Amino acid sequence: MVTVRWRCGHTGDVDPDKVASPVCACGERKIAGVLNVGAPRIVGHATGPLVEQKYLGPQAVRLAKRPLPLKEPTDGDQQPGV
Ligand SMILES: [Zn+2]
Repeated sequence: MVTVRWRCGHTGDVDPDKVASPVCACGERKIAGVLNVGAPRIVGHATGPLVEQKYLGPQAVRLAKRPLPLKEPTDGDQQPGV
């Protein structure tokens, strides 16, 4: 739950999990400030007091910005100990 102050001056509690676009009782939509925020929630493969551990399954990742071209191995590319 997050307590916000709208531009109209009213304050209210908003549950960001339930309300994507909060509106004040008077109709104001612009938020002037956030008065308090709870601790962050971290979900996934991590450790710590705020973590909810959850198996996320394998994920595809791309380390290079574009596909790297493959090249034929040369004599200098042999692995050590082979
Ligand atoms: Zn208001």
